[in-house]
Amino acid sequence: MSATNYNPFENAQIQFDGVAEFLKLDSGMRDFLRQPMKEAHFTIPVKMDDGSTKVFNAFRIRHNDARGPGKGGIRFHPHETADTVRALSMWMTWKCAVVDIPLGGGKGGVICDPQEMSSGELERLCRGYIRQVWSQIGHEVDIPAPDMGTNPQCMIWMMDEYEAIMGAKFPGVITGKPVGMGGSLGRTEATGYGTVYCLKDLLKKMDIPVGSTSASIQGFGNVAEYAARLYTELGGKVIAVSCWNQADKTAYTFKKAAGCNIDELVGIKDSFGSIDVVKAKSLGYEILPGDDWLIQDVDILIPAALENQITPANFPSVSQKVKVICEAANGPVTPDCDPLIKDRGIMLVPDFLCNAGGVTCSYFEQVQCNMNYFWDKAEVLEKLEYAMTKAFRAVYDLANEKNVYMRDAAYIIAINRVSDAVKSRGWV
Ligand code: NAD
Repeated sequence: MSATNYNPFENAQIQFDGVAEFLKLDSGMRDFLRQPMKEAHFTIPVKMDDGSTKVFNAFRIRHNDARGPGKGGIRFHPHETADTVRALSMWMTWKCAVVDIPLGGGKGGVICDPQEMSSGELERLCRGYIRQVWSQIGHEVDIPAPDMGTNPQCMIWMMDEYEAIMGAKFPGVITGKPVGMGGSLGRTEATGYGTVYCLKDLLKKMDIPVGSTSASIQGFGNVAEYAARLYTELGGKVIAVSCWNQADKTAYTFKKAAGCNIDELVGIKDSFGSIDVVKAKSLGYEILPGDDWLIQDVDILIPAALENQITPANFPSVSQKVKVICEAANGPVTPDCDPLIKDRGIMLVPDFLCNAGGVTCSYFEQVQCNMNYFWDKAEVLEKLEYAMTKAFRAVYDLANEKNVYMRDAAYIIAINRVSDAVKSRGWV
C-alpha cells in the first residue's frame, strides 16, 4: 500500500479506539474525544505577484480544550487535507497532555506550495489566514505556531495582522515568533532536541552508549536538523538523511557511511530543508533514492518529515540492526505497522511524546511573554530537557509495568489526563 492510501485521521482514531477500549472509557467520552470539537474551513484569496488572484483552501481545527486553550502549528503544504489537520489537532491534545502542560489540541493548515511562492505572496497568505480565523484564535482560546512550511517570519506577519485587527498588542496569540519579538530562545532547537532527550534516556535504559550508535533520518528541515545536531554532539553518527528536491519534484537520500557532517549539510540546504544535490555530490555524499533512508544498516531510524512513511509494505526492508524508531514527525508509522515493529522488539518513541519539545518550548514562550521576562537559552533548554525526560520516563515506566508498547503507554497517560479534565468540567 502506498503512503497516500492511509488517512491520518483514521489512523489517529484507530489508535484512540484501542486505548479507549483498554481504559474502558464510556461511550459518551469515546464519541467526544474521537473527533474535533470545532472546525473552520475557509478560503483565502491572495493577490499573486503577476496580478492574478489565487484562492487557497485552509483550515483551523480544535480537537479539545478541556485542559487549556487549543495549541498547534499551521502547516503550508500542497497535500494538506482536512483529515490531516484533524489528526494533527487530536495528536496535539495528547501531546500537551503527555508532557502535562495546561494546553489543549488544535492545528491549522493551508493547501499551498510555499516553495513556489514569493515572500510577498507568502506574507499576503499569512495575513489572509488571520483575517479569516482571528475570531477563533487568541491567547486564551487557541494559539497557533509554526509547523511544516511555515517559519518565525510567518508567525510575525500573522501576529501583526491579529494585533492590527484587535487594535492592541497580543504577543501570546502566537508562538514560534522570532527572538526579540516575543520568541523564546531555544524554540528553533526544541523539537529536534526534545526527540534526542528522549532517545538519550532510552539508550541509557537500554544500556547502549550513544557514541556506539548510528542513525538514518528522513527530512532535513527544522526538526531533523536539530535532532541530527544534538545526536552527533552526543557522539552518535548520522549515516544518511533524506529530503525533498523541489527542482526535480522527488526526494533524495544523502549518505556518508563515515558519518554526515551536519554543519556541512546545513551549509548547502535552503530554508525549506532541501539539500543541494550537486554540492552534496562534490562533498562526497552518495546520492540515493529518497526512500533509501529507511533501508540503512543503522541502530536508529528518525522519521522527521511526513506522515505514513513506515508501512507494512516497506517495513520488511528495514535493517534487522534497527533497535529504536524515534517518531520525530507526526504519524510517520501507520497503525497496521505497529504490530510488526512490536514483534521485532524495536523500541518506538511515539510521535506525540517524541516531538513534544516544540510545544513545550512554545508553552515556555507564553510563560515568558506573560511575565515579560525572557530566560537565557541554557535555562530554556534545561527546563526542556527536564520536562521531556520526565514525560519520557513516565511513559517508559508504564510501558514496562503494564507490558505494553510505548505508544499505548503514552496514550494511556494522555487520554486519562484529558478524560479526567473533561469529566471534572462536567462535559461528559
Ligand atoms: P520543515 O518544513 O522544516 O522540513 C520538512 C523536511 O521534510 C524538509 O527537509 C523536506 O525536504 C523534507 N521532506 C518533505 N517531503 C519529503 C519526502 N517525500 N522525503 C524525504 N523528505 C521530505 O518541517 P519540520 O518543522 O522539520 O517538521 C517535520 C515534521 O515534524 C512534520 O511532521 C511536522 O508536523 C513535525 N513537527 C514539527 C514541529 C516543529 O516544531 N517544527 C513540532 C512537532 C512536530
